[in-house]
Amino acid sequence: MSEEAYRRLSRQLDAIPNGFPPAESGADLRLLKKLFTPEEAALAAHMTSHREPAASIAARAGLDPQAALTMLKAMARRELIRVGRQEGQLTFGLSPFIVGFYEGQLARFDRELAELFEAYFTETGGVVAHWAPAVHRIIPVEEAVPAGIEFYAYERASALLESAQAWAVRDCICRVQQKLLGKGCDRPMESCIAFGPVPGMFDGVQAMRSISSDEALKILREAEDAGLVHSPGNYRDGHFYICNCCTCCCGVLRSVAEFGLPTAIARADFVAVLDEELCAACGECLDRCQFGALSLSEGFCQVDAGRCVGCGLCVTTCAPGALHLERRPPGEVLPPPANVGEWLTERAHARGLEGW
Ligand code: SF4
Ligand code: SF4
Ligand code: SF4
Repeated sequence: MSEEAYRRLSRQLDAIPNGFPPAESGADLRLLKKLFTPEEAALAAHMTSHREPAASIAARAGLDPQAALTMLKAMARRELIRVGRQEGQLTFGLSPFIVGFYEGQLARFDRELAELFEAYFTETGGVVAHWAPAVHRIIPVEEAVPAGIEFYAYERASALLESAQAWAVRDCICRVQQKLLGKGCDRPMESCIAFGPVPGMFDGVQAMRSISSDEALKILREAEDAGLVHSPGNYRDGHFYICNCCTCCCGVLRSVAEFGLPTAIARADFVAVLDEELCAACGECLDRCQFGALSLSEGFCQVDAGRCVGCGLCVTTCAPGALHLERRPPGEVLPPPANVGEWLTERAHARGLEGW
């Protein structure tokens, strides 16, 4: 009976456009068993991602509303589901896998959970990151874009941060996971920046540290210095976080680097361009590029435009100034969806899901 509840919950999670595809070995079910009690799984299997009052969910699950409310609150406290308030009452909805309950487990992450997430991720071949539109979009290091090239607010990390009223930072859960597995890198751990429109909204939030806008900008610069790629959500408006990612830890970028899924991340609308006259063939930029887009041959650096994602990290490391970013030709990179709602609709359509 409880096995069936986990199966049903897995299917419900996969019915969210973000996706939670089943793993042949049952890695999805093992992961859910670690996170949800059998009773919680049975209740959550009756939920959708649309938030609704506890009484409605309880009625579908055939449970006493008060008992359901207690369980829903317990799951919300562990960030397994979403909670909010509508017309004065609490409402609950399923949280997607990524970006969602995976990131919410930071405060409880241990070796066993890291192994379960890793098993699920590798067995499903990074497929969650594969569907269009991609979860994340790369935005460039601003200094890499020459003066005179206009770029949109959603392409500028500093503009995203400056538009907010509250800021916080949390450990990068992908890096925490790899550390627990004895892998990964030594790049900055505290590098996931959250922001929002209400002053003080992150005060007291578990696993987050409220910071000032100046500190948020400083963390952004330190991430660039460490060679991390800025990756906010893949939409134009309504941003609320900027991830700073590496191909060795990040689930999304590993899908590009390890599983050969170039569309797992939406590339920036820029490409690195070399001025051969200025290139000293020093090779400094090669290690900076996490996407294998740079090589040395014929006495200077070569850019593989097909591999370049437009992050700009190579540009700021080239002392002679031989590299810069240029806009890609019109139509080569599609603009992102307008907002999260449009992103969900497009992704649901791409996956053949109904009701979105
Ligand atoms: S997506 Fe990137 S920054 Fe966000 S948690 Fe993963 S690696 Fe860290
Ligand atoms: S860092 Fe600059 S000068 Fe050195 S190889 Fe790369 S492009 Fe050429
Ligand atoms: S060549 Fe590599 S480091 Fe440079 S912008 Fe392209 S992806 Fe980024």
